[in-house]
Amino acid sequence: MTPVGFAARHIGPGPDTTETMLGVLGYDSLDALIDDAVPAGIRQQQELHLPPALSEAETLAALRRFASQNQVKTQMIGQGYYPAHTPSVIQRNVLENPAWYTAYTPYQPEISQGRLEALLNFQTMVADLTGLDIANASLLDEPSAVAEAVLLMRRANKAQTGARILVDADIFPQTRLVLAGRAEAAGIALEFFDAAQGLPEGEICGLVLQQPGNSGAVVDHSGLISEAKERGALVTVATDLLACTLITPPGEQGADIAVGSSQRFGVPLFFGGPHAAFIAVRSGLQRQLPGRLVGVSQDAEGRTAYRLALQTREQHIRRERATSNICTAQALLAVVAGMYGVYHGPEGLRRIAERVHTQARGLAEAIKAAGGTLVTESFFDTVQMRLETFEEAERIIAGAEAVGVNLRRVDETTVGISTDETTTSRELYLVAYALGLVDRPSRAPELFDEVILDGDFAYPDSLARTSEYMTHPIFHTVRSETQMMRYLRRLADRDLALDRTMIPLGSCTMKLNAATEMQAISWPEFASIHPYAPEHQTQGWRELIVDLEDRLAEITGYVAVSVQPNAGSQGEYAGLLAIRQYHLSRGDDARTVCLIPASAHGTNASSAVLAGLQVVVVATAEDGTIDLEDLDEKIAAHPDQIAAIMITYPSTHGVYESDVREVCHRVHEAGGQVYIDGANLNALVGLAQPGEFGGDVSHLNLHKTFCIPHGGGGPGVGPVAVAEHLVDFLPTEDSGLTGAAPVAGAPYGSAGVLPISWAYLALMGAEGLTKATAHALLGANYISRRLAEHFPTLYTGENGLVAHECILDLRELTKESGITAEDVCKRLIDYGFHAPTLAFPVAGTLMVEPTESEDLVEIERFIEAMVAIRAEIQEVIDGKLEAHESPLRHAPHPAVVVIADDWDRAYSREEAAFPVSGLQQDKYFPPVSRIDGAHGDRHLVCSCPPPEAFEL
Ligand SMILES: *Cc1c(COP(=O)(O)O)cnc(C)c1O
Repeated sequence: MTPVGFAARHIGPGPDTTETMLGVLGYDSLDALIDDAVPAGIRQQQELHLPPALSEAETLAALRRFASQNQVKTQMIGQGYYPAHTPSVIQRNVLENPAWYTAYTPYQPEISQGRLEALLNFQTMVADLTGLDIANASLLDEPSAVAEAVLLMRRANKAQTGARILVDADIFPQTRLVLAGRAEAAGIALEFFDAAQGLPEGEICGLVLQQPGNSGAVVDHSGLISEAKERGALVTVATDLLACTLITPPGEQGADIAVGSSQRFGVPLFFGGPHAAFIAVRSGLQRQLPGRLVGVSQDAEGRTAYRLALQTREQHIRRERATSNICTAQALLAVVAGMYGVYHGPEGLRRIAERVHTQARGLAEAIKAAGGTLVTESFFDTVQMRLETFEEAERIIAGAEAVGVNLRRVDETTVGISTDETTTSRELYLVAYALGLVDRPSRAPELFDEVILDGDFAYPDSLARTSEYMTHPIFHTVRSETQMMRYLRRLADRDLALDRTMIPLGSCTMKLNAATEMQAISWPEFASIHPYAPEHQTQGWRELIVDLEDRLAEITGYVAVSVQPNAGSQGEYAGLLAIRQYHLSRGDDARTVCLIPASAHGTNASSAVLAGLQVVVVATAEDGTIDLEDLDEKIAAHPDQIAAIMITYPSTHGVYESDVREVCHRVHEAGGQVYIDGANLNALVGLAQPGEFGGDVSHLNLHKTFCIPHGGGGPGVGPVAVAEHLVDFLPTEDSGLTGAAPVAGAPYGSAGVLPISWAYLALMGAEGLTKATAHALLGANYISRRLAEHFPTLYTGENGLVAHECILDLRELTKESGITAEDVCKRLIDYGFHAPTLAFPVAGTLMVEPTESEDLVEIERFIEAMVAIRAEIQEVIDGKLEAHESPLRHAPHPAVVVIADDWDRAYSREEAAFPVSGLQQDKYFPPVSRIDGAHGDRHLVCSCPPPEAFEL
C-alpha cells in the first residue's frame, strides 16, 4: 500500500465524498468546477514551481537539518530579549495544546470565557506591575508599542497635538528605528535628547523614556516626568516587567503610559518573536487604548462574564478614524506570560528578579574590582563595560563566544552583558573569564557568592519599589503543578476552538494547524536563538526564512517577500509605505490619495492613515463588485494624486471579480500603484497570482492561508510581497541601513512561528496546495448551494459560483421575524458551533468559510444546524412564538439555565440544549448566557474581578 500523502491529511474530503459534493454542484471534476468559478482572465498559466511534497517524517528531518545549522549559545545580549524558563506545564498545556492555540479571537465571548480570563490575568498583572490603572490584552512588539504610545499621546493631548515628541536617547536602537519610521509616516516630529541634560526648551506633546535604559541604566525620572507634565506633555515609559517587581514602576514615577515586552515571562526568544508587548495607561486614557481590551460584564442572568470591551473602537467601525490598525495581536503569548505570573505569583517573580539583579551586581563588582569601567553603576540586569580599544572589545566578544556565551556589542568600545532567569553561576564565571577578570574558566564561582549574600541593590534606594502588586487571589492560589494543569484545563474547557468544531469564519481561514507543522517551534535550535545573535550562528534560521520567502514569492507572482511584518495590518502598513516611498523617490510628492472600496477590511483604511495617506472610498456596485464608474470619478477628482488602490482579491464579498485587471489598469493609468490585500489567498494559491494579474504589492496572512494557528488573537505573520520596482522599499533585516524603515523590532519579526508555514508548504507541494485551493472552493460552494433555499447567498461571481467563502443574507428573514444574524450566531453555540463572521463585510449577514480542512461529515453537521435554525426562525414568522420568546433570542443556553428547577420558557429544555440528536453524546455547554456588552462598556472594569463577583 502506498502511504497517504500529507495533502490527504490536510484536506478533509476524500475521493468519494469529493465526488458526492461535486455531484450536488453538477460537476464531474474539481477542474471543471474551477474552470467555471475562476475567471479565465486571471488564471495562472503554469503550475507552481515548488520542490516536491515531502512526507511528514521527511519534513521533520528537513526541519532538523535547518535547526542543526543554528548554534544554541548562552544568550546574554539582552536589548529587550532575555532567555526565560517556560514552565513545562505551561509549554505543554498552552503553547502545545490545540485547545489554546487553535482558538479564534474572542469576539464571541460566550464561547471564549477561558481565554478571556487568561487575558484578563495578563492585563491585571501588567497594570499592577507598571503601577498604572488599565492595560490591554497585548500589542505586537515593544518598538511598535512605543510607536502606538506616541500616537496615543498625540491623540489624547489635544492642546499640544502639533508639538514634538521628546525621546530619551537611551532607548533600544530597534525602538528608535521603528519609531522614527512610524513618526515620519504620520508626520510627527521626534527629537532624541540626553535625559541627563534635562528637558530641552520649547513646546512638547509627549515624552518617551526607557527604564531600564538601553545602557542598562536605572534612573530616577520623577523630576523629568513632573517637569514634562507641568509643561503640558503626556509621558510614556518603556519598561521591563521583571524590573518593575523591584524598581519604582512608571506609574508611581508619574508616567501616563507604560509599554514594553512581556517576553521574559516564560516566552522563548524565538529568534525575535512572537512575544506579547503590553501597554498600560492611567485612568482617563483607556478609551484611547489601541488593540484589544478584555473587560468584565454580565450575562442575561446577571452572572459575571468577560468580553472584549469598547469594541466600537475596532477598525471595522472606525476605519480611517480608528485609534490604530492593530487587529491580530499576540494573544497566545500574553496567555503564556499571564500564566507565568499566575504560577510564580508576586513573591516568585520578585525572587527571580532579585536573583537576576544579584548576578548582574556580582558581575559589576568583579569588573570594578579588576579596575574596569562601567557605563553606569545603577542598573537592574544589564552591565555595560567600556573598553580602551575596538580590538579589546572584539576580543572579549570573541572570547565569550568561544566559551559558549553571546554578549552584546553595544558600540566600538562597549560590551553589554544581561543576566536573566536562566543564568547560572557557571555562566557568570565564563563571562568573567572572557572579560579577563579571572584567569581560568573552571574556577569555583565563590567570587559571586559574596555579593549574592549582601542583599543590597545597585540602584538608588529611592527607586526601590515599596508598593504591593498582583494582590488578586488568582496570583496566590495556583502553586502546585496539579493546580496549574487543572486551571489550564478548566479554562480551555470553557472555550470552543478548532479542536472541537469547525470555525467557519469568513476572511479568517480557520484551517488545520497540523501537529507536524507545529513540532519544530519549541526545538531549542529555533526557540532559544537571540534575534541579534551573530549571523554565523543562525544559518539554519536564515536558510529557512529565505526558502520560505522564495516559495511565497513563487506562489504570489511577486519578486521579493519580507516576513518582517508581524500581522496582516503591519504588512499593509509596510506595503503602503513602500508605495509612498516609491512615489517620493520619483519626486511624486503629491500622490497621497489611497482609494479603498467601501467593502474593505477595516485595517486597510487605518493602515493607509498610518502610512500618511488620505483615504478616498470607492463605491460598491449592486452586484458587490467595485463600481467602475465611481472609480473613474474618484480618479478624475484627484488628478496626479492617486498613490494607490487597496483591493482585496477575491473581494471581501467572497467572489472573483472578473474585471480586476481592468481596475488595476485604470489605477496604473492614473499613475497609482495597486495594493492587493492577500488575506483571501486561500482562494488563489496555485490558481492565480496577484503579482501577475495586476498587483504591485500584497501582504499575506500566514496565520490564515499558511496554517499558523490564530492563538486566540495572535500570533500572526503578515509578509509583504512586492514587484521589482518596489524591492528597494521593502523592510528587511538591514532596514535602517537601506532606507526602508523597519516595521518590527526583530529583523524577521515573529520568526519563531515561520517553521509552521515552511512545513505546510513543504508537506503540500505545488499539487497539494492547488488541490487545497480547489477544495476550499468546493466546500464554500457546497454550503452555499445546500443552504440556498434556507439562507440565500448574497453575492456570486461567474456561473453563479462563489470563491472560498459565501455571504448568507439574513436581512429579509430579520425583517420578517425580528431574529437577527447575531441571534443565529448565539444559537449556533447551542448546536456546538463557533459562529461565522458576523456583519462583515455586510451588516445583517453571516460570512461562512469552511476551508479545505473540513470533511463532509462536519460540513453536513453545520448545514443540519443551519437548517434547524431556519426552521426555528420560521416558527417566529408563523407566529408560533414571538422573537423574544424564541430559543434563538435566549441563546446560548448554559447548563445552569437548562437544568434549573424553574423553567418558564416557550420551548422545552430539550429544544434548548439538544435541538438535534447528534448533540446527545457530544454536547458543549457554554459557561454563561448571552453577554450584555453595553453594560460592560458603561461600567468599565478591565482587571480581574474579586471572587465574590461570581456569586449570584
Ligand atoms: C485578517 C485580515 C486583515 C488583517 O490581518 P491581521 O493579521 O489581523 O492584522 C486584513 N485584511 C483582510 C481582508 C483580512 O481578512
